[in-house]
Amino acid sequence: MTHTLNGSCHCGAVHVQLDPGKLVAELPLRACQCGFCRRHGARTTSDPEASLHITAAPGSLGRYRFGRRAVDFLICRECAVYVAAIIEDDGQAYGVVNVVGTDLPGFADHEVQRLDSHDETDEQRLARRKAKWTPTTLVEAVPNA
Ligand SMILES: [Zn+2]
Repeated sequence: MTHTLNGSCHCGAVHVQLDPGKLVAELPLRACQCGFCRRHGARTTSDPEASLHITAAPGSLGRYRFGRRAVDFLICRECAVYVAAIIEDDGQAYGVVNVVGTDLPGFADHEVQRLDSHDETDEQRLARRKAKWTPTTLVEAVPNA
């Protein structure tokens, strides 16, 4: 049985909903080794068969870019939690959700996979993200939950 996972930033202004499309136990839990994710202690998950929906209260979302500037790191402006990271390609967004930042349930027993992607070219990086990240929609609206 699969069920929808709900999480949010600390203050609740940014809500995430992940439809895993499989058992949560089969989703990865990754520790990205980039400087940003290490500083946040971020643990992310994504799956191309899943779908991620982000609802952000109007004006609550900050976007941070660094390095090759390909990725938008979504930060809540109210409580400063790192919520998710997204890329867009051909009008489709792909994302990873920060399980720790959004307190997403179901990952307590997961083994953490270390992700080190220093050596990738831009093309390899985009291809990997499109293959592994989750198709994502993002709307600005006041979250219900
Ligand atoms: Zn917040």
